[in-house]
Amino acid sequence: MHLARFPRVRLFPAPTPLERLDNLTRTLDGPEIWIKRDDCTVVATGGNKVRKLEWLIGEAKAQGATHVVTQGAVQSNHVRQTAAVARKVGMTCTALLEHRVETNDRDYLGSGNVLLDKLFRCHIEYRAAGLDMNAEAETKGAALRAAGEQVYVIPGGGSNKVGALGYVSCAQELMQQADEMGLRIDRIVTATGSAGTHAGLLVGLEGINAHVPVLGIGVRLPRDRQEENVHRLAQETAQYVGMGAGVPRQAVVANCDYVGAGYGIPTEAMREAVQMLAQQEGILLDPVYSGKAMAGMIDLIRKRVLPRNETVVFLHTGGAVGLFGYTSFMEATG
Ligand SMILES: *Cc1c(COP(=O)(O)O)cnc(C)c1O
Repeated sequence: MHLARFPRVRLFPAPTPLERLDNLTRTLDGPEIWIKRDDCTVVATGGNKVRKLEWLIGEAKAQGATHVVTQGAVQSNHVRQTAAVARKVGMTCTALLEHRVETNDRDYLGSGNVLLDKLFRCHIEYRAAGLDMNAEAETKGAALRAAGEQVYVIPGGGSNKVGALGYVSCAQELMQQADEMGLRIDRIVTATGSAGTHAGLLVGLEGINAHVPVLGIGVRLPRDRQEENVHRLAQETAQYVGMGAGVPRQAVVANCDYVGAGYGIPTEAMREAVQMLAQQEGILLDPVYSGKAMAGMIDLIRKRVLPRNETVVFLHTGGAVGLFGYTSFMEATG
């Protein structure tokens, strides 16, 4: 594959850091734990969506768009990163925010990501829970086009074959970093939600024959549906980059045992994971994605499902701004 065939805007300095977590490794007495710092993608406190937006905005610009429309939950990191990137490249952003998490909490509804969306003067519209939000975004896009706007619609999480290129590229970047450091990676662990990160990684790793498995920790759907979504997007992405054979179904592995009561609903294990990383490593996770993913990884290490002799890389997908949407839960000592 040859990614320079696809339009791209550069949004952050690559590579993001790859660091060893000495204290966490010692505490858990399990595998050697490294972290890939994709929380450090610079724009508006960073996160994994900035990588996807390099390609999505690249295509939007190539098509002459001046207005992006996207969607997410109220505390969407994706919407915050899209709203910021739109400003950086001189575009307007309209975002549909779904009341996916049932709550009246002031911080959830007004602080964290949504506060920043407003700071970027993102045009926000709210939607009730349970709608087909990508269809809502397409409808909104069509209405704006009818009003004369040059619109590019970005699906939730930036997860289509274009956005997934960000993680095809990240897989290449990570393996090159590891090779230069002489670091043997046995496994990559990441949160998996709208699937673009997981799917992109699998395509990127497969494309360079890295033979490094990826474990996705789910944050919303049950395992079979999550794996299906990831595999479908991986196949679309593989075809898009001209990788004939695609990704074998059995390479798609998600563990969805750490979702708790539902998407965006905090769990005790998430709080413990956020506290552990903060207190032992000075690293901020988020309550919806990386906190639950880290909670899963910690549990699998304690159960020795992730064996001691491995070297594991946790992909930090960002989102710490979301902590301010969960102040009362995070403050309680539990
Ligand atoms: C969006 C997001 C994810 C999930 O990535 P997907 O590509 O949607 O699966 C993980 N972590 C954070 C912090 C996110 O914002």
